[in-house]
This record gives sequence, structure tokens and C-alpha cells, in this order.
Amino acid sequence: MANTAKILDGKALAARIRGELAVETARLRAGGIEPGLAVVLVGDDPASQIYVRNKTNACAQAGIRTFDHHLPATTPDSELLSLVARLNTDPGVDGILIQLPLPRGLDARRVLFSVDPAKDVDGIHPENVGRLLMGEPRFVACTPFGIVKLIEEAQLPLAGANAVVVGRSNMVGKPMGALLLNADATVTMCHSKTRDLAEVVGRADVVVAAVGRTEMVRGAWIKPGAVVIDVGINRGADGKLKGDVEFAAAAERASAITPVPGGVGPMTIAMLLANTVAAARARAARTG
Ligand code: NAP
Repeated sequence: MANTAKILDGKALAARIRGELAVETARLRAGGIEPGLAVVLVGDDPASQIYVRNKTNACAQAGIRTFDHHLPATTPDSELLSLVARLNTDPGVDGILIQLPLPRGLDARRVLFSVDPAKDVDGIHPENVGRLLMGEPRFVACTPFGIVKLIEEAQLPLAGANAVVVGRSNMVGKPMGALLLNADATVTMCHSKTRDLAEVVGRADVVVAAVGRTEMVRGAWIKPGAVVIDVGINRGADGKLKGDVEFAAAAERASAITPVPGGVGPMTIAMLLANTVAAARARAARTG
């Protein structure tokens, strides 16, 4: 049987959203509001440096000003906390991004909790997580937010669907589950202690894999016609990126599937921009 799965093209949708945001930032700027994102990078982790560069470039293209704060890995908690306090009160800063992971020795929890929830464009402050759980979201974590946009764009129904999320991280799995529940899916959360993952995944109409293990969700597990969302970014020995799903085999059974790369990844950055522009829009509304 030929491969019939629709490819959910995150790269194309992200490009369109970024174009729309550029139009909106131009309009905001004409009204005297320049959207601004503070990007805080601590230490010299090479992957984090690449992520920050990608985010900064995307901001520039969308008309969002960035304020870069690159601090040495030896920075004490107190210094990081006072930087965040300054950014919280800086009227030109709409959003604050603390690039994770923070170097060992820093109290990531304390730093993240100190960000003004109204500037938490990564959607990880407990207030924003709580609002999401209560069905009154403000800022939603960028990766799951982007996944919902992809699903909506493809007009794939979520109400009443059996949705299975594999992975329960605070940044991806848990907010993903909350978003799917808010969209009236029947949600099952899986993790490293889940028994018979193959059987649970096999019942899913929608599968979201966010584990960080190359191709651990096997194609043969996928229920025919299911929607498969692959969050995983794993670099193989050949240097190529691979997802958490066995793509080729899964695509033979799925009705729709995200590729890696070009699926969820580009949407994550687009949603960071969208959240920042939303924060700037709120500033514009406040300042009238
Ligand atoms: P994480 O914090 O390491 O969480 C991984 C989750 O997978 C945990 O909840 C863990 O369960 C679960 N898990 C591990 N082994 C499992 C197994 N054998 N069966 C079932 N569940 C298992 O990872 P993350 O930050 O959520 O990221 C997941 C992946 O997505 C990574 O590849 C990451 O690079 C990628 N990612 C991509 C984007 C993007 O924009 N595309 C954004 C963020 C992350 P326990 O809780 O029981 O340990």
C-alpha cells in the first residue's frame, strides 16, 4: 500500500505566521510600540547558542527587537535574579526568554519563577501553567502551542479523539496534554513507567511523541488513520536529525504526520514570536 499520510508542513505554516507577525509589528511600531524580547543566555552550551541565534534572527525578520544578555556560566543566582528584576520593570521589554538549560549550580526554578508572568512568553511560569489548566490560557509553552496550530491548520478534529502524549516534561508533554484536554480530546499521558506503551499508543487517534529517544515510537504501533506528531529532535551518528517516531513505517499507517526536521521545530520559534507580539499588543492596549 502506498504511503498516504498527509505531511504536516510546519516550516511552511511557520513562515506564513512569521510573515503575518511582521505585518502586525509594523503596525504596532507605527503606533509607537516596538515589540521587544529580552534573551538571556547563561554559559556557553553550543546547542543553546544555536537556538538563541535562530530565535534572535527570527525576531529580527519579524520586526521584534531583541535585547541580548549573554552571561558567563559562573554568574551567581543573585546577579541573574537582579537582571530578571530589571527586565521585569523595563517598559521596552515585552517578553523575557531564559534559555534552558541553565548551567549547573544555578537555581533554575527560582529564576524562572521570578519572571513577571505577563512577560513569560515561554509559558512556563506557574501562573501561566495554572491558567492553561483552568482553560484560560495567556502564554502557552511554544512547542505544544505550535502543535495545536498545526493541527488546527490541517482541520484535524480533536473533540472526542483519543489523544496519547508520550512524555510528561513541564515544557512539552504536560502543557500538550492540557491543550488537548481543552480541545475536548480524551487524553492519556504516558511516561517511562507506563506499561505496554505499544498497546496504549495503538488506541490513539492522535499521538504526540515527546521523549527524546530516536524512533522509539514504532510505526507498527500506530492505529491506521491516526495523526502523528513528532516532537523529538535527536541527532544520529550520521549527523542527521531524527524524530521520536519511526517515520517511514508510521507514515504508511497515519493519516497525517509531522516530519523531522520541518514539522514541530519551526512552529516552536513562530509561537515564541507570536507570544511576544501578543505581549506587545497588550502593552499597546494598556498605553492606549
Ligand atoms: P524530557 O524533559 O527529557 O522528557 C522526556 C519524557 O519522556 C519524560 O517524561 C520521560 O518520562 C519520557 N520517557 C523517557 N523514556 C520513556 C520511555 N521509554 N517510554 C515512555 N516515556 C519515556 O524531554 P522534553 O524536553 O520533553 O523533550 C522531548 C524531545 O523533544 C527531545 O528530543 C527534545 O529535543 C525535543 N524537543 C523538541 C522541541 C521542538 O521545538 N521540536 C522543543 C522541545 C523539545 P519520565 O517523566 O517518567 O522520566
